Amino acid sequence: LAFQYYFVPPIHSLSLEPVQIPRVIVFALAAFFVGSLSAKQRSATEALRRSEQRFRDYAEIASDWLWETGPDHSFTRVSEKLTAVGIEPTSRIGARRWDYATDVEEEPEKWRLHRATLDAHQPFRQFRYRTAGADGSAVYLVTSGKPGFDADGRFLGYRGVSSDVTAAVRAEQVEKALHAELAHVTRVTTLGEVTASFAHEVNQPLAAIVNNANACLGLLPSGPDDLDEVRDALGDIVGDAERASAIIQRVRALATRSPSEKVTLGLEDVVRDVVAVVATEAAARRVAIRTEVAPDLPAVSGDRVQLQQVLLNLVVNGMDAMGTVHEQERLLVIRGRQDVQDGSLAATISVQDRGIGLDTAEMGRLFEAFYTTKPHGMGMGLAISRSIIELHGGRLWVEPNQAPGATFSFSLPAAVSTAPNRY
Ligand code: ADP
Repeated sequence: LAFQYYFVPPIHSLSLEPVQIPRVIVFALAAFFVGSLSAKQRSATEALRRSEQRFRDYAEIASDWLWETGPDHSFTRVSEKLTAVGIEPTSRIGARRWDYATDVEEEPEKWRLHRATLDAHQPFRQFRYRTAGADGSAVYLVTSGKPGFDADGRFLGYRGVSSDVTAAVRAEQVEKALHAELAHVTRVTTLGEVTASFAHEVNQPLAAIVNNANACLGLLPSGPDDLDEVRDALGDIVGDAERASAIIQRVRALATRSPSEKVTLGLEDVVRDVVAVVATEAAARRVAIRTEVAPDLPAVSGDRVQLQQVLLNLVVNGMDAMGTVHEQERLLVIRGRQDVQDGSLAATISVQDRGIGLDTAEMGRLFEAFYTTKPHGMGMGLAISRSIIELHGGRLWVEPNQAPGATFSFSLPAAVSTAPNRY
């Protein structure tokens, strides 16, 4: 058509013969088809380029790094971002995760489970483990991965992302240490209030030991008839000495800082120990303590010393609250009963006093750290007690009494196996 238009006279005119018309139409259609196809291809290539660029941008901006493993779970690719935590990415190629994790030995069960997940070609999320940075210091990583398969369903390996959570883990560790420190301080402070009575309590059996020993000395030179009396006196000596050392043991257990240790225990023993510890102090403050522990109180799983601390704190608070009420009214009742918490069996201990009671407006603040209405109070007792109970999976709460005073209660889930493991 162009040739005809430009070169065949008369030039600059187009005279189409009828036979050429279908040819021109076919040509125009073909040209249109080819043109639109290549435009489509161009836009598909552009979309692909843009999507790749977007992916690259995400990968670059994110602090996480990407990795790929082969069917044998060894790394085949690790992105450059890994250098940010002081690890050379190429050093990981060919290695499996557990080849360099430093907690494999300490937590074999966790790793066994992880390995089983990988062997089952299942996805995994937020798997946390410890490795070593370039300078050998601990680095905590969290990683998630997804298995990949080819068209025939053959496993190709995993693709995933990892991030460095060392700072968060360190903060968690510091918080835990601070909590333990604070718990220890409050325990010792509460203990300080009852220590004077201890000295007194310990002195009594010790004085008895001395008296009995003296009696033995006096009896020994006499004839063999007196031997029975000597035996009795010696029996008393043994009993008193054991009593004295048991008292000292209880104080030592409360005053020393030991790592939290959970065992299956009966709360009735915790009640008994705390009552023994405060008995003399209660007598000095003219407070009567009554305990009503139901025989079917389920055993719980907990740290004995921490639970003693909670109860000791509630009992001392109850005694404090009754400091100004009439002596005849100073009664503290510690109850233990079976209960249901979130649909499961639980053990509940409550401490009811007849003290000054609660200011309803301030009730929400009692459990806040440093909230105190006492001149020498620290205001940490209830805050620490609540966190201890919550760490045990339980609940600590307060209710005003119908009569004067308040009732503080805590409930703990029953231990999985009860009677046989009871301490
Ligand atoms: P502290 O005993 O050092 O003040 P706590 O956290 O143990 O710290 O108690 C906080 C506050 O809760 C107390 O100062 C008191 O006002 C209130 N409180 C605690 N127990 C009782 C109680 N049995 N009766 C009335 N008020 C109480």
